[in-house]
Amino acid sequence: MTRRKDEPVERPDPPVRRRAAVVPTPVTTTVYIAGAVHAPPRKKPSAAAGLFVSPGDSRNKGRCIPTTEEQSQYVAELYATLDAVRNADTNSTLTIFSTQKHIREAMNKKFSKWEHEGWAGTPHREVLKCLAAELKARKAPTIFKLAEPGTPERMMCRQATTLAKGVARTPESREWDLTIPRGTALPGLSLQGNRQKIFYRSIREEKTRNMAPRPSTMKSLELVRKAVEDTFGRYVSDADIWRAVYVKDILPHTAQFLWKGLHNAHRIGKYWTHIPECEDRAICKACDTTEDLAHILVGCRSPGQEIIWKAAESLWLEKETQWPAVSLGTILGCGLAEFRDEKNKLKHGTQRLYRILISESAYLIWRLRNDRVISRDGEPTTEDEIVNKWKYAINQRLQVDKILANRPTKGKRPTLAPQLVLATWSDTLDNEQSLPADWLREPRVLVGSRAFPKTPTRRRNSQGVG
Ligand SMILES: [Zn+2]
Repeated sequence: MTRRKDEPVERPDPPVRRRAAVVPTPVTTTVYIAGAVHAPPRKKPSAAAGLFVSPGDSRNKGRCIPTTEEQSQYVAELYATLDAVRNADTNSTLTIFSTQKHIREAMNKKFSKWEHEGWAGTPHREVLKCLAAELKARKAPTIFKLAEPGTPERMMCRQATTLAKGVARTPESREWDLTIPRGTALPGLSLQGNRQKIFYRSIREEKTRNMAPRPSTMKSLELVRKAVEDTFGRYVSDADIWRAVYVKDILPHTAQFLWKGLHNAHRIGKYWTHIPECEDRAICKACDTTEDLAHILVGCRSPGQEIIWKAAESLWLEKETQWPAVSLGTILGCGLAEFRDEKNKLKHGTQRLYRILISESAYLIWRLRNDRVISRDGEPTTEDEIVNKWKYAINQRLQVDKILANRPTKGKRPTLAPQLVLATWSDTLDNEQSLPADWLREPRVLVGSRAFPKTPTRRRNSQGVG
């Protein structure tokens, strides 16, 4: 629209001048939080949240977290943060100090992403959702800081740890109100800017929410829990067991074999009893008994499992003094094994060797069994061939370790820590005395010849020749 030249210009009204408001002095509250876990041997751990404001303050406290939650320091700190946010004045700036980096990162970096994705696949989402809502309901800023070592803030966080430790040992009320304040939470997930993977994850979660756990899976989990408790003296939760299947030391195809074992999903034993004309497949022809996974891996009389476990034991005894008993529970839970020295320090190399030995040996037994039953019509593999296959499988892992420890991918650091590889295979290598301390770049490094048990066939052959 055009304006005539003589037309007066409309000016907006002058802004109303307001009297300068009296700015109240900002009130700030500083809270130090911590989480502590009390884990007695062979018993369920108990975690508690600790809050410390100042010496003698009535707000200082320790509170146990719900038993339904994972009893870990991280989750305990989430609950401590929730308590700190709820009890602070909404108009005062709240500063929360923690000794753990992940709390600050979760609050500052991941919250918006989790909410955008509708919390699909987010662990501990109940407490996190509640915390996000409480933070939104606040009218003043909330600042998350890391208490650096050697600072007064670190000392204060230690006070919070003491409070948490005090209650973690004693059974007390673990009730927490996780009601979300009205009008502070976004329901569902954003249709804009989300990946297809997130939608599928969300749909799957919705579908399986009310699904009862499979009885055979529950049985396997209980078996693993009992075996780990008896062999390594530690209590493990279901989440620990599932996580342990996917540790980096176990290769993906082996992990998949263990995962199916935990679900009792292999097509063996009782699986065939209900299928017409296939009933005889449920029975092991060598032993005339039901062929379940425990039978294949540790009980079958057909040449395979016994030789392989003996070979694994011999190799292990080159490095350690005691070979933990092998059972289906310890095989499926091999990622949960813990080995400590006299000072109670975790022996990472030993733990890694155990995971590799057990997972690779069990997977080889499984492959040999499939080969015997499916391809060879029950004809067993020779003992020499079994030992050679086992040596090949273990040496393959050693060679992959060497490559990964030598090859830098990003920057100057290799994919796998060289020190961890050296610690894993030390004391087990052939001719180790003639190798340099850092043998990662040596061309011919092998394992297993010293641990190789002489088989009757081999003895017979050597007698024949000599
Ligand atoms: Zn058998």
